[in-house]
Amino acid sequence: MIHTELIKPLAQLIRQQAALRGAKLAYRDSRSAVTYGQLDTATANLAGHLQDAGIQPGDSVAILLPNSVDWVESCLAIVRAGAVAVPISIDATEPEAMYRIEDANCKAIITTPQRAALAAAMMARHPQLRTLVLTGSASAPSAGLHFATLREQPARSLPRDPDDIDTPSFIIYTSGTTGRAKGVLLSQRGMLWVSAACWAPIAGLNENDHVLSPLPLFHSYALNLSVLSILAVGASETILEKFSTSDVMAQLQSGQFTVFPGVPTMFHYLLEAARLDPACKFPGLRLCLSAGAIMPGPINTEFEQRFGVMLLDGYGITETSTMVTLNWMSGARVMGSCGLPLPGLSTRIVDLSGKDVAPGDEGELIVRGPNLMAGYHNKPEETASALRGGWYYTGDLARCDPNGYLTITGRLKEIIIRGGQNIAPSEVEEAVCAFAAVLDCAVVGAPHSHLGEVPVVFVVPRPGMTVDAEALVLHCRTRLSAYKLPDAVHIVSEIPRTGSGKIIRFKLKETLASD
Ligand code: AMP
Repeated sequence: MIHTELIKPLAQLIRQQAALRGAKLAYRDSRSAVTYGQLDTATANLAGHLQDAGIQPGDSVAILLPNSVDWVESCLAIVRAGAVAVPISIDATEPEAMYRIEDANCKAIITTPQRAALAAAMMARHPQLRTLVLTGSASAPSAGLHFATLREQPARSLPRDPDDIDTPSFIIYTSGTTGRAKGVLLSQRGMLWVSAACWAPIAGLNENDHVLSPLPLFHSYALNLSVLSILAVGASETILEKFSTSDVMAQLQSGQFTVFPGVPTMFHYLLEAARLDPACKFPGLRLCLSAGAIMPGPINTEFEQRFGVMLLDGYGITETSTMVTLNWMSGARVMGSCGLPLPGLSTRIVDLSGKDVAPGDEGELIVRGPNLMAGYHNKPEETASALRGGWYYTGDLARCDPNGYLTITGRLKEIIIRGGQNIAPSEVEEAVCAFAAVLDCAVVGAPHSHLGEVPVVFVVPRPGMTVDAEALVLHCRTRLSAYKLPDAVHIVSEIPRTGSGKIIRFKLKETLASD
């Protein structure tokens, strides 16, 4: 049942696929493509060059690239060098990128010429960050190493290709409910266990699949499915730089693709587009996969009926190397449920005292299994509160039906999920509070028909001052990625707080509901 043969060092998987299917397409984007044979050579060369530049086993290397073949090669090369890959969104603002580089103590960064100025600023501020690798054309003026040259030319060093798959190989930043983003330490074993227990056996991912992936590669869902699992099973993948409804509609109608993974909002947009084009069909597409946020049952059903293709919802978390549950293609599917726990994984639903709730009751979902993170990087207190007695406390509320199907009913933690992307209210509050005219503020999620939720901010102006909503959003734009920007600004006279100073968010949400 569990495809244990997929759980082996990434370097070994790369060499194995190169030997078995060297001429086969591995990954492609709108500009370039790489076969498994080329992937082996390119990642070995890149790893060797990183080692020549002084990267030691366990050193962190940042990837600040858009979704691309370069991204995949960078990630695999970092692991082949025995280092730790630290993906950062290409849209990250300077403070967001700076924080991650510093927190993960990155020694090298791979980025685009467009972000070279940011990389230079980071190198000036963080002396440990010594090596810069730039993608793009060789003629671009730069002070860094040139990615395309490094991947083509053998290095002095051979790649370390470590056999150890239990030491963390990835630090994936996730938005916490309090404080700054936390770096989740993930190993090759945990990640490939999900390929072996979820994507290969349940979704049937195999070497005949050609996946169209619009998922952001810096997120754990894509790193797991769209990078590592593709390699593990020897499938082919087309990577989209960003999701665009019209592009995905056209690509899926071409008949080349067998699997399309997305987040609920994407399926919603595809359905909307199909309403205007009733004849459209997705030939050859055998499966769609959704994770990242609640997939409403009615949309799931309508999508399947409209396109005649299965859409399986699964529940994944960065801290569990992604998947905890997935619906199966056969059996008693329950629309609106995120499916059954993966084989080999234990789940429980507990109350606040940690006792199991009665069958069918709501409680916090906790998880134990081979895919749990090693912990949060340099955050022992947060690690101790999330991992207790071998269980990961998800912070999500869930119910289990008599057949074992889980439904996520809400969140203990306060993260706002905007179209599958997580936003910590505290991070937005930090940016808003830095605006001169703001005395106090609080951010909550407001319901949104397409995106699920959007952040809105309640602001108390400083005495004698007024807060210009447009200027406030402009100010936030310099500190936050676009998806984290407040969708609305409400001016209030005070923020409701508990005796110990915590914001009583539900009271603010109530005022939105009564608007
Ligand atoms: P992340 O670590 O960024 O992947 O976010 C994980 C969180 O996304 C979970 O703790 C859930 O709150 C939410 N989530 C992921 N998948 C689902 C799903 N299928 N249904 C409901 N919520 C989900």
